[in-house]
Amino acid sequence: MSRVYNFCAGPCTLPLPVLEAVRDELVDFRGTGMSLIELSHRSPAYEDVHEEAIASFRQVFGVPEDFEVLFLQGGATLLFSTVPMNLVAEGEPVAYVRSGTWGRTAEQDAAVFADAYPAWDGAPHGYTRMPRVDELEIRPGTRYLHVTSNETIEGIRVSAFPDVGVPLVADMSSDYLSRPIPWERFDLVYGGAQKNLGPAGLAVVVVRRERLGEPPRPLGSYLRFDLHAERRSLLNTPPMFAIYVMGKVLAWIRSMGGVEAMERRAAERSGRIYAAIDTSDGFYRSPVDRADRSHMNVVFRLPTEELEAAFLRAAEAEGLVNLKGHRSVGGIRASVYNAMPDEGVDALVTFMRAFAEQRA
Ligand SMILES: *Cc1c(COP(=O)(O)O)cnc(C)c1O
Repeated sequence: MSRVYNFCAGPCTLPLPVLEAVRDELVDFRGTGMSLIELSHRSPAYEDVHEEAIASFRQVFGVPEDFEVLFLQGGATLLFSTVPMNLVAEGEPVAYVRSGTWGRTAEQDAAVFADAYPAWDGAPHGYTRMPRVDELEIRPGTRYLHVTSNETIEGIRVSAFPDVGVPLVADMSSDYLSRPIPWERFDLVYGGAQKNLGPAGLAVVVVRRERLGEPPRPLGSYLRFDLHAERRSLLNTPPMFAIYVMGKVLAWIRSMGGVEAMERRAAERSGRIYAAIDTSDGFYRSPVDRADRSHMNVVFRLPTEELEAAFLRAAEAEGLVNLKGHRSVGGIRASVYNAMPDEGVDALVTFMRAFAEQRA
């Protein structure tokens, strides 16, 4: 078997023990004589998987009792619409931090359903930093402040969640379960599973129960968070395979020491890549503010685009793949999500130092 080190921003690498366990159970799931993806979602065997995944998610992320955990489809992108649809009425003000590509996209969709306005705009800074709390402008009557805890494309993160007197809503797609959060400040947290949690096809919402109830506008049943909560995310056929794999990823996170360990590990691992950048005598350059550097997506540039192309080719030849930056910003992006093995980070850092020595 030859596994590469996959630095893709998403979908991305998953823990090898999880993949092996899935392989071993694939044809005959727990003595049912069929695979999990052939089971009825109303069967006891699947219901166990489903309930285990909800319980593990709550336990690993430290979700308080007064929040509901929902397993949904449509990714973070559908939630850009359904979060404002469920939380606010038309014309109510909601604040968005325009911190980068995802923050901007979330705000655009929210503007269809509410009076979404920018609490801060990173465009004049080229999206290279997050706002300081005193830069956030919150209008009276604002129902929530939306933040993107990690801007996957630009490579910046919210290092401390702001306390601005209105509840927070966070898109945590690209740093889900890589850090504990101050739940008392949040009304809702959401994200797609395909970066830190499992395969594509599943999104997880954690919402304060008192925000649920009759939605502020008429909505079809799948769009209603209150109905998903009431039916324990079994309103219709859920993305069973993704939920099952996520359950295994959650057990793996627990075995690694939980979310606190993931947070320390992410700081240390990304720190080693940033150190390789900072000690390269300017050969590598990080375009983002030091204080806001992402622990998940390390973005950097080389002196020329030709050198960047040569870097990507040489890296791939060494089994370090998917290091190309997003087409909108170019350069290099190393995504080091929870499941990236330490050896992958070591190999990348060794490769970066050798390449700089040869080509500088
Ligand atoms: C990947 C990503 C998204 C989009 O997720 P989908 O599940 O593909 O809709 C949204 N926000 C952030 C921060 C992301 O990293």
